Amino acid sequence: MYDLLLKGGTVVDPSTALHGVHDIAVQDSTIARIAPSIPNEEASRVLEVTGKIVTPGLIDLHAHVFGGFIGNGVHPDLGGVHAGVTTIVDAGSAGCATFGGFPNHIIPKCHTEIIPFLHICQTGLATTPDIIAESSINLEGTLRVADQYKGLICGIKARMVSPALEIFGMEMPRLAKRAARESGIKLMVHIGDTEKRYDPGVIRELLPLLEAGDILTHYFTANPGGVLDANGKLVPEAREAADRGVWLDTAHGRMNFSFDVGRRCIDQGLLPHCISTDLTVPGRIHTVHSMTEIMTRFLGLGFTLEQVVTMCTANPAKAIGMEHRLGSLAVGRQADISVLDIHEGDWVVYDVLGASLQVDRAFVPVLTVKRGQVFEPDWGPRPWGWEPDRVLPEGSSFSGCC
Ligand SMILES: [Zn+2]
Repeated sequence: MYDLLLKGGTVVDPSTALHGVHDIAVQDSTIARIAPSIPNEEASRVLEVTGKIVTPGLIDLHAHVFGGFIGNGVHPDLGGVHAGVTTIVDAGSAGCATFGGFPNHIIPKCHTEIIPFLHICQTGLATTPDIIAESSINLEGTLRVADQYKGLICGIKARMVSPALEIFGMEMPRLAKRAARESGIKLMVHIGDTEKRYDPGVIRELLPLLEAGDILTHYFTANPGGVLDANGKLVPEAREAADRGVWLDTAHGRMNFSFDVGRRCIDQGLLPHCISTDLTVPGRIHTVHSMTEIMTRFLGLGFTLEQVVTMCTANPAKAIGMEHRLGSLAVGRQADISVLDIHEGDWVVYDVLGASLQVDRAFVPVLTVKRGQVFEPDWGPRPWGWEPDRVLPEGSSFSGCC
């Protein structure tokens, strides 16, 4: 007898090349069977999902869920299992001085799986800016904590922002890389200086530092230090990095996502591998809204359903080295499943510069299954729920919630 049966959904799982109506049976927190028809009598609980899209559990590769230790941390389940997302990668909210908050206070209190990166700044994002002095980096402490929490900490995070670069120069990302390599874990680097103070050409020195498996985040940033040169052309090091296996993640957040930059990258043929939110409390209200809305943006940019699903399931699973367990509905994998709907309508979504994109399809979460346990979505990030802003007749003064 299976614990759970999802009946009649349209399964979209690029990792197994599955796109069609299938039933999925779950037992003991793993995917037990996937077939065109599995009898209801074989399961103790049956959920009818006909007409819905069923994907591997969504993975948000860049978010901030260290609430209480940083000012803007979202509760993991708000951006996670109650938003269609089964796994959240915390992109370096904690440093070695604060990391204990995760295993002691955050992870035990949520259902969403959290995979943290450790910030090279020892206080993580407890303050803004993060790195404010040479003493902000404690390499020895970073190595010690990465070792103490081996198996939990996935990688080291560095942010190419001011004043970190003014204090350390390129020594900052080099120290982060050293910590990552000595710990045998990944490196994730934020590009785009929100202070707009440093030489944009620094990207050309940074990219060669990244090795196969490392992650560049904010690929579509319009801030100095992004991947485009002054003429809007991709710096050659970007393609070289992707060719040797560096993961390109877009993230979004409040300051580092531009449709214009994105279109230029896409037009030059270098597509992102992963899409993510960079979710924070104010970002959730004003700019990012949800992982499903990030997926909506990429459908709107012309990506196919399979491409969009790949960028938030199979690819981030590989980017964090967890593809044996996450990002796929193959039999034997952890039973992480997202049930989504695609609504049709006339909406508009915005990037962080206020540029708009009209979309006629929007993803909304329906159900989330995490290790076999079923969660319903909450009301959603906007007063009307999960859908984006409506396109209003010209001359209308109403401009949505924000
Ligand atoms: Zn971030």
